[in-house]
Amino acid sequence: MTIRIRASVVEEVGAPFTPTDLEIDDPGPGEILVRVVASGVCHTDANTRGGDMPMPLPGVLGHEGAGVVEAVGPGVTSPRPGDHVVLGWPSCGECRNCREGEPRYCLSIAPALVAGVRLTGEKAGTSGYRRLDGTPVSGHFFGQSSFATHALALAGQAVVIPRDVPLDIAGPLACGIATGAGAVLNTARPRAGDSIVVYGAGAVGLAAVMAARNTPATTIVAVDVHDSRLALASRYGATHVVNASATPDTVATVREIIGGSADFALDCTGVIPVVEQAVETVGMLGTAILIGGAPAGAAFRADHFRTLFGKRIVGTLGGSGDSQRLVPALLALWRQGRFPFDELVDTFDFEDIEGALEASRRGDVIKPVVRMPDLAAP
Ligand SMILES: [Zn+2]
Ligand SMILES: [Zn+2]
Repeated sequence: MTIRIRASVVEEVGAPFTPTDLEIDDPGPGEILVRVVASGVCHTDANTRGGDMPMPLPGVLGHEGAGVVEAVGPGVTSPRPGDHVVLGWPSCGECRNCREGEPRYCLSIAPALVAGVRLTGEKAGTSGYRRLDGTPVSGHFFGQSSFATHALALAGQAVVIPRDVPLDIAGPLACGIATGAGAVLNTARPRAGDSIVVYGAGAVGLAAVMAARNTPATTIVAVDVHDSRLALASRYGATHVVNASATPDTVATVREIIGGSADFALDCTGVIPVVEQAVETVGMLGTAILIGGAPAGAAFRADHFRTLFGKRIVGTLGGSGDSQRLVPALLALWRQGRFPFDELVDTFDFEDIEGALEASRRGDVIKPVVRMPDLAAP
């Protein structure tokens, strides 16, 4: 059995997102079929289209899907058809790191995200996606390829959410928003009176600021080069903001605000000189957390002597932790008015992924989400 879907296909590196009719397999053992209502658009989609990630093309990207479970494969007991779900990151569930509760660092995470084919099961190594003439197309991007009317996902990556949560805002909880919030809540875990500096006030950085406000950290500094984004950072919890283009020495300015070294500095930019500033911003026993993605092969420098003084430099992927725990927590905070991530979201049409990416690049939009066409509509 196959299902006809409409998907946005990238034919080759650098090619546009092009709506295309495809067919996908019925869900197999461990798999689910999700009718995607909306999907967040993340820089990783643009980077992958640009060739920075080794996803074989042509293929279907998109990795912040939210929708309704339409069918489940043999043996799947949760989620159930009709459940509303956010599609979190995939993981194998069986390796050492998965068993130790660190599915973001699944030993198979790279192929699970970008191999373009199924990772496990009797059809491992094959794509469930093909053209109407039968030619295979890469799918399973981040286990979901959510730029499509339907996603063939792993049951374990689906987080069931309450039915009153609007599905057109929920998708970014799977990646971009979770990445910023999780870096604070799972990795930093600040103590009373701590200081946190967030470099880069885009979707990830603003989510980090919102999360930091839910901790006992008392100084939250946001650094960016756009005043409009710094205004948002102030609104969402930054106690201080620094426009890096208006100061000759950003680190010195930040240290002046804090009155010394920071306890935590988060780089949400992936821009190497900024990464190095984040590392310099923390001192003894301080922690620099690397979040933003730099181009493949990029390297950064850290002063060796100053690092000896108990400094930690740690990377995080997707906010660390487990989507099954983080997504419901963020939704609960949102409901309580303590995590207004929905205000960062702007909705675009499925046909206009390019427009969504462009608006995000210009800085007009913090978190674009594309809504899928309703195939059932007349
Ligand atoms: Zn694993
Ligand atoms: Zn992402």
